[in-house]
Amino acid sequence: MIPDSVIQMLIDRVSIVDIIGKVTDVKKSGKNYMAKCPFHNEKTPSMSISDEKGLYHCFGCGASGNTIKFLMDYYRITFREALDKLADMAGVDLSQYENSENKSLTIEKKMVHKITSEVLEYYHNNLLNSREAENARKYLANRKLTLDTIKFFKIGYGGLSHNLFQFLKSKGYTEDSIFKSGLCLKSNDGIYDRFRDRVIFPIYDKDGNPVGFGGRILQDRKDIAKYVNSPENAVFHKGYLLFGLNYAKDEIIKQKVAYIVEGYMDVIALFQNNIKNGVAPLGTSITENQILQLKRYTQNLVFVFDGDDAGINAANRAIDISSTLEVNVKVVILPGKMDPYDFVMKYGKVKTLEYFEKKLLDPIDFKLIFFSKKISISRDKISFVRNIFSYIKNIRTAIEREAALKKTANFINEKLETILIEYQNFLKKENSFGRLIDNKNTKKSENTEVEFLGGMIKYIENIDDILHLISSEMFTNTEVKEILSRIEAGERNIKTLTFGLNNELINSISKIVMDENISYEMILEKAYKIRYLYTKRKLSTAKNIEEKKNIKKELFELEEIIKSFSHAVNY
Ligand SMILES: [Zn+2]
Repeated sequence: MIPDSVIQMLIDRVSIVDIIGKVTDVKKSGKNYMAKCPFHNEKTPSMSISDEKGLYHCFGCGASGNTIKFLMDYYRITFREALDKLADMAGVDLSQYENSENKSLTIEKKMVHKITSEVLEYYHNNLLNSREAENARKYLANRKLTLDTIKFFKIGYGGLSHNLFQFLKSKGYTEDSIFKSGLCLKSNDGIYDRFRDRVIFPIYDKDGNPVGFGGRILQDRKDIAKYVNSPENAVFHKGYLLFGLNYAKDEIIKQKVAYIVEGYMDVIALFQNNIKNGVAPLGTSITENQILQLKRYTQNLVFVFDGDDAGINAANRAIDISSTLEVNVKVVILPGKMDPYDFVMKYGKVKTLEYFEKKLLDPIDFKLIFFSKKISISRDKISFVRNIFSYIKNIRTAIEREAALKKTANFINEKLETILIEYQNFLKKENSFGRLIDNKNTKKSENTEVEFLGGMIKYIENIDDILHLISSEMFTNTEVKEILSRIEAGERNIKTLTFGLNNELINSISKIVMDENISYEMILEKAYKIRYLYTKRKLSTAKNIEEKKNIKKELFELEEIIKSFSHAVNY
C-alpha cells in the first residue's frame, strides 16, 4: 500500500492538463481549458478542464472526474496502475514506499512469469516437433485447429516422460522454485509432471504475461480429471483470470461487447473464425471478479451457452451473479447440444453472429423460460411468479422493472394490474417496500448536499462567506460531511480534497464545477436550504418550549431568505 500522503503529492505535482493533453489537443479558454473529448467522437471541443482544481467534465458524453479517474477510465487500468503512471510522469519511484511484503510479492510474480514463459515454449515445441506428441497433434487436427491457430495460442503438449524437472534444472532453476511453481510434483515414487500427456492451453493475464496453464487429457479416462489447471500462486487466481482476455480486450472495446463462453476450445474456435471478442472462465462458472474485469472494457456482456442442462443452469447462475453489477447482460442458448465451438466451426463467422443477434435473450425472458421448465404454471402459478419477482426486485431501474413485470404478465396470461398488486404484496412481505421509501427521502436531501459540495468547490474563493452559514454537522452524507470538516480545518487544495471520493461523487462535483450556468447565488441558496433542513431536524429534538420557539423563528427567517432567491433554479 502506498501511503495517502504520497498519492496526494503525486496528484498535486502532475497537471491534469498535461495528462489529458497527451491524448487530445487541449486549448486554454478563459480560466479553464477545453479539449476534444477522448471518450466520444466529436468535431468541436466539449470537454472542460480545470487545471487548478484537477477536474474535468465533458458536456457531450458526461465523462467526468479527477486525475486518477481519467487515467483509470481512459487507459482502462486499475487504481494502482494509474498511480504507477502518475509516478512515472512525476519522476517518482514508488517502490521505495512499498513495504517488504509487497516487494517479495513482486519478485515472486516476476519469477512465475519467467518460469511460465520458459515452460510454455517447452510444451509448445514439444507439440510441434516431438515424436511422442503424435496423438496430441492428431487430436488438434481432428478438432480442425489450423497450425496458425496452434501457434497463435501457443498450444502445447505435456509429454509422456516426466522430463520437465530436468529441463528446468538445466535452465538453472532451484528445486525449491520448481516445486513452488506447481508444474512438477513430488511423490513417494519420485517426481512427476502435473501436465503429463495433456494438451496444454497457456493462460495469460490481461497484459499478456503468461501466468499458468490449463491441460486437457488426451484419452477419455474416468480415473483422472479431464481438465487440470496450474495451482493458485502469486499471479494465478482462477477466479480472476479469463482465458483469451489478453487477445480479446482491444476487440471487446471496438465491438462494444464481450462474448463469454464456457471453455478454451470455444474461445479458440471463435478466434479462428475471426470472432475475436470471446473469453472464458477457467473451467469454473463465472465469478463476480471476472465480470468486474470485463466491465473495464465494456458494459455489454453476452453469455453463450449450449442448450443442455449444465448450460442452462450456468446461464441462470451467470444472470444472478451479474444482476447487481451494473452490466447489460444478454444470453444466447445454442440449439441442441451444440457448444460455441461446434456452432462456429460448422456455420462460420457471419452465420454465428447472425444467430447470436437473433437469439439474444434479455435476462427476464431467460428467467421466464427457465422457471417455466422447473415449475408448472398451470398448477403452481404463485410459486412461479414469486421466483420471477425475486429476480425482478434486483433489477436496477424502475423502467426495466416495469418492462419485466409486463413481460411476466404476458407470459402467464394475466392482467398487468394483477401482477402489479401481487408484486407490491411480495415486496411488503419481503419487508423491503418500506425501506425503499425511506431511502428515497434521504436520497433527496443527500442530492442537495452533493450539489452544494460541487458548488462550494466551484466557488472555493468565497468559501469563508459560505462557512458562516454552514458547518459540517449539518450534513447527513458522510463523505460530504468529511470533506466539509477538512475544509473547516483549513484545507483548500481541491486536487487533494477530491482524492479518495467515490466515482459517483467525483462525477457530480466535476459536472457542477465546469457548468458555467451555475451561479454563486445558486450555491448560496443550497447552503440556506441545508441549514433549513438541519434546523428542522433540530426542532424534533428540542427540549423545551422556549427552545422550540427560537427554532421556529429561525425556520421562518430562513424560509423568507430562501424565497428571496427568485430564480430558485434546480440543477
Ligand atoms: Zn465526451
